[in-house]
Amino acid sequence: MSDVVPDLSAVPFESLVAEMIRRCGDDPSREGMVKTPERVKKAWEFLTHGYGLTPKDAIGDALFEEHHQSMVLVRDIDLYSMCEHHLLPFFGKAHVAYVPNGRIMGLSKAARLVDMYARRFQVQERLSEEIAQAVWDTIQPQGVGVVVEAYHLCMMMRGVQKQNSKTITSAMRGSFLENPSTRDEFLRLSLGSHSPLY
Ligand SMILES: [Zn+2]
Repeated sequence: MSDVVPDLSAVPFESLVAEMIRRCGDDPSREGMVKTPERVKKAWEFLTHGYGLTPKDAIGDALFEEHHQSMVLVRDIDLYSMCEHHLLPFFGKAHVAYVPNGRIMGLSKAARLVDMYARRFQVQERLSEEIAQAVWDTIQPQGVGVVVEAYHLCMMMRGVQKQNSKTITSAMRGSFLENPSTRDEFLRLSLGSHSPLY
């Protein structure tokens, strides 16, 4: 802990929230807010539950032998995270792809990996890298690509107030770095227009 942060570890979370409300100019004991510190504590426990999880928890035993050699893409995974600079939400979609090398993972597992890393304080760049690295380490594919597209409330509600600017980040491993046609196929499929399904 840095010396600019006094040791408040014995202070209950609810008291810290009440003090924050007070410093923002409101009265945490008024009727509408009296339960707010308790609600905030529960909400934040949920929003940061990814700290307790590892890729093994997210993927479990859902790995299968499979000699499929073409790209597997799970597109449009909903994502909600909290920026580590302002503790405000950023949200959007993640697209996770890999080219297998003898092993595939259950399709729902990409979404669980995204959620596990999103439910922490994050920056979008690291979030993309962590998801890619977890797929890379867990199933040891020929390559991995991750694209995250997100809106940041810290940009939209304050500061520059750019309402519609979406931030796009990507992280690649293996054949997605080495082979331009693999990378292009991934980017076209993930960032291209919406599929005819909806
Ligand atoms: Zn921010």
